[in-house]
Amino acid sequence: TLPNLPLFRALQSHDPSSLAVIHSTSSRSFTYGSLIADVVRARNELERKVGNEGGHGQLTGERVAFLAENSYDYVVTLLAILANDAIALPLAPSFPMGELQYILDNSQAKVLLSTEKYADKAREILRAGLDRKPVFDIRSKIQKGAAGESVKLESAEKPSSSGMMLYTSGTTARPKGVLIPESALAAQASSLLEAWKYSPQDRLLHLLPLHHIHGTINALVAPLMAGSCVEFMYPFNAEQVWSRLAAPFLPPENSSGKQKHPITFITAVPTVYNRLMNAFPHLTPDTQQAAKKGIAPENLRLNISGSAALPTPTKTAWTTLSNGNVLLERFGMTEVGMALSCGLDVADRVDGSVGWPLPGVEVRLVDTETEQVIQPGEELAPDGREREGEIQLRGASLFSKYWANEKATQEAFVAGDDGGTRWFKTGDVATRHTVEGAGAGRSGSWAKGPMYFIRGRKSVDIIKTGGEKVSALEVERELLSLPQISETAVIALPSEQWGQKVAAIVVLHPSAQTAGRNGKPWGAMDMRRALRDRLAAYKVPQEMKVLNSIPRNAMGKVNKKALVKDVFG
Ligand code: ATP
Ligand code: MG
Repeated sequence: TLPNLPLFRALQSHDPSSLAVIHSTSSRSFTYGSLIADVVRARNELERKVGNEGGHGQLTGERVAFLAENSYDYVVTLLAILANDAIALPLAPSFPMGELQYILDNSQAKVLLSTEKYADKAREILRAGLDRKPVFDIRSKIQKGAAGESVKLESAEKPSSSGMMLYTSGTTARPKGVLIPESALAAQASSLLEAWKYSPQDRLLHLLPLHHIHGTINALVAPLMAGSCVEFMYPFNAEQVWSRLAAPFLPPENSSGKQKHPITFITAVPTVYNRLMNAFPHLTPDTQQAAKKGIAPENLRLNISGSAALPTPTKTAWTTLSNGNVLLERFGMTEVGMALSCGLDVADRVDGSVGWPLPGVEVRLVDTETEQVIQPGEELAPDGREREGEIQLRGASLFSKYWANEKATQEAFVAGDDGGTRWFKTGDVATRHTVEGAGAGRSGSWAKGPMYFIRGRKSVDIIKTGGEKVSALEVERELLSLPQISETAVIALPSEQWGQKVAAIVVLHPSAQTAGRNGKPWGAMDMRRALRDRLAAYKVPQEMKVLNSIPRNAMGKVNKKALVKDVFG
């Protein structure tokens, strides 16, 4: 039997013969029937080897860390841990040893599992002096895909101690372990199911690492709860993605053995869309043509972007390439899952906006200066400017705590003024206004009213210069709209005169070599001149530093504090 919980109830309700998981490159496929049978088998094995029967005590509420490639094995392992009433902690195989050891120590994991592929890596982690040595086990090969006897659910829903522990990206500080109880996982998934309408007809191409919320919840748990098919293709390789998207639309003689089912759903980070578009010109004309069909709105039902701000030029270029498939932007974080999203109706995907509070998520803006809640209708300051507020959230999808960090947990919440539930302080700043033509409820009853616009993180993106506040994200948007700039990170530098000054770290487009005055290289002066008409003078970067590339993590995020240190010492 499996626990009577929303996740397992959903899995059990799907047609057992429909596909749950595919390995894109090998075309190996696994049905929901086999998935459930394999989960039960893996659950029993885990319990026998490291649970109660193994003499190691119960797994209830314990952290079970695991190293697995993006595959059916990962899915079975994750679900088997949840079915054991334990906390699943997926580790990133790509992480440096020190980081993995930090996570194991911090989480006090009781068990470390690995697939055969990462067994040596796991042994290496264990050789370090960990505070609590976990029981180690190599997951036996479960790629049976064998349809099992019918699996039953426990008759009654019992209180559950299961859940997931995911570490934040570490963009602003050392990664924090976020405890997401099973009830929050289910709430996050059902909110997304309502907003994005995952269905059994969906084929989702999975391109993300599986240790962050984006790849784990949006691209795995939610589609599995909906009965969609998840097709794994990782690590990311732009050319491979294009061949896959093109395959169903190539003439038969060119597409032998390739996946024929069109991809209907992609969710990724902005850099993935950029890398795809950069690779596009190098494809053969046949593949180009077929790939364009593959990403057209009638085939690719939904293309979503998130985890970092989506630059408007990226969005526009993708729309053009795909014949009108506008990227849908959303905002979320490890602590809450997805919080804000644009809508399925194309009119509800407004440039620069992350849309509306998702179903079940309560959102408020708290003025960063006055600390007053910005009530509906109070979005404008007396001088006519938009008021900026910190996004604060509550709802069933919230995490319960930062693991082993009582202080951070306390600081992250603020009491409800109505004596009601506490609010979670995201540390992200936004404005809110009504957009004509959008928010009429066409994308669902939740997608109504004023839309949210992210200004950036309070701690690094809101730059205070000479008494004015500048959103790094706004300046980045303008810089990226210049043809000479292909990537940028806008940061604050200390200034005696202004407190802080705005500076831009940029990667130039090759054509910038001769794009300056009199064919000279394009430089800081040209940048300032180009922005003069677009931004108020105090927002225009006073300095510009050119790099060959801007370091980003697996989710396309820039650690600005580290970058400033590297570049300016
Ligand atoms: P850490 O908390 O360790 O510093 P992190 O906040 O980057 O790292 P995540 O939880 O993975 O870790 O990322 C959440 C953050 O990502 C949000 O707080 C927000 O700043 C950013 N983010 C997510 N989606 C968007 C978006 N659409 N636009 C702008 N920023 C976004
Ligand atoms: Mg964070």
